[in-house]
Amino acid sequence: STTDTTRPFDAEVGRLLDLVVHSLYSEREIFLRELVANAADAIDRRRFLALSDESLALPEDASIRISVDKAARTITIADDGIGMTAEDLASHLGTIARSGTRAFTETLADAKPEERPSLIGQFGVGFYSAFMVADTVEMISRRAGTEIAHKWSSDGRGGYRISEATRETPGSDVVLHIKADADEYLEPVRLETILRKWADHISVPIKIERDGSFQAANEGTALWRKRKSDVSEQDYTEFYRHLGHMFDQPWATIHWSAEGSIEFSALLFIPGQSPFPVTEDDRESHVRLHVRRMFITDDAKLLPGWLRFIEGVVDTEDLPLNVSREMLQATPVLARIRKALVNRVITELKTRAKDAEAYKPFIEQFGPVLKEGIYDDNEHRTDVAGLARFRSTHGDELTSLDEYVARMPEGQKDIYYITGEDAERIRTSPQIEGLRAKGFEVLLLSDQIDFFWPERLATYAEKKLVHAGAANDVFETTAMPEAMSTLAAALKAALSEQVSDVVASSRLTDSPAALAAAGGQPDLALQRLMRRAGR
Ligand code: ADP
Ligand code: MG
Repeated sequence: STTDTTRPFDAEVGRLLDLVVHSLYSEREIFLRELVANAADAIDRRRFLALSDESLALPEDASIRISVDKAARTITIADDGIGMTAEDLASHLGTIARSGTRAFTETLADAKPEERPSLIGQFGVGFYSAFMVADTVEMISRRAGTEIAHKWSSDGRGGYRISEATRETPGSDVVLHIKADADEYLEPVRLETILRKWADHISVPIKIERDGSFQAANEGTALWRKRKSDVSEQDYTEFYRHLGHMFDQPWATIHWSAEGSIEFSALLFIPGQSPFPVTEDDRESHVRLHVRRMFITDDAKLLPGWLRFIEGVVDTEDLPLNVSREMLQATPVLARIRKALVNRVITELKTRAKDAEAYKPFIEQFGPVLKEGIYDDNEHRTDVAGLARFRSTHGDELTSLDEYVARMPEGQKDIYYITGEDAERIRTSPQIEGLRAKGFEVLLLSDQIDFFWPERLATYAEKKLVHAGAANDVFETTAMPEAMSTLAAALKAALSEQVSDVVASSRLTDSPAALAAAGGQPDLALQRLMRRAGR
């Protein structure tokens, strides 16, 4: 049975709780942000599900209500959201489902204690942040469409307990029993100050009880609908932090409205820091779709996967408020919005790329993800290749393909590259010494994705991309002195299983021998990678 038993937390939850409670003391106030965000999400989810099931409809005055009981030392955060069943309570609050939370636990465990507080800005820690200020947390919840409520409660140590409870209407109440050293949060004014920093961006009304009555604590303005000239830098930053659970500054803010055949407002942020490892499993964009200010979904894949690090909101008039999932899949409106968004982002990046110094931090953060676009995006492949930056034998600075091409000396026909796991090691590879000796520059590619995109791209600015190991046509096969032909024949016989030929070549200047890919073969590092993957 799911009720009335004390059950242990998942091992991972235990670890996260321990870390959150003991190392993030100085960032305690974020518990309110996390719990209010959950309440707002629950209301958004209920609104969305009600589109296809009227029985779940939100009450007209749906809201989030915060109240303090000083005598009982509790704070209660109540919402009219979708609510949870007993099973939901056990699975959502007893285990860690979200990969981001797992990444957070790992990063935090590895970090030095003094680095921990700043890390919290990079990850949402969710519901468990309640235990920073409370020694017992209760969640009384009733799933919309059901009659029975359940109470989840825990002291944040060993486990939790779920029992039957009553709640007049669907939704949830989170009750925090405030710790002795967290008295400050029993002051409604203090809570209001915390809320004011970011709550305006939440479109659901938030109310705080003061002197017996509930008063509005947020304006619910949709920042993205305002004119640029009416929004301050600070407003943008606060909204960005709220959206992405970040504490840093956005690297770029792109805010515009499209008018004409299709109408929408968009506010996109390119983060200053990547919140999660860019190779996370989830490779899809979660830019939020709103229709006439109302949140609809963050699953509409508004940007291609290679721009998944962008946070933001798109709000359109051109879809009905009761848009269904099926309609979202099929409507040409979204296809046109997507097209406009990706083009706008590419234009912005092209402009910003002109300032190499300012562009560098972006490339350092997101260069590898960006390059996925060269591989994945048939339509924008060449644009993305133009935006990417690479190491090369030209020097220590990053280079673009355009700069590379502009530097090509007379006699060089193709763009050369070499792949390997370590950029500094491939810089001195025998594979490229012949090319270097001829004064030909070689791109040094050392990200995972680099093993795959050059073949897809095939050409840039009408120049072929050629792996250094396959640059056979620029070298003469030199006539072998007698002694060398004997050696070559002996090597060829001894290595007959491994190589197809042994030749003398002007490819080498300092090294005695190197492996070269035969024409038409994938390059050597890729062959190694494929062997390792068992292909
Ligand atoms: P996240 O919000 O990032 O998923 P949390 O730890 O904040 O992670 O919350 C875990 C889950 O618990 C949520 O995904 C949601 O399913 C559920 N949850 C939390 N608070 C509420 C609430 N007020 N109403 C309904 N579900 C909730
Ligand atoms: Mg949450």
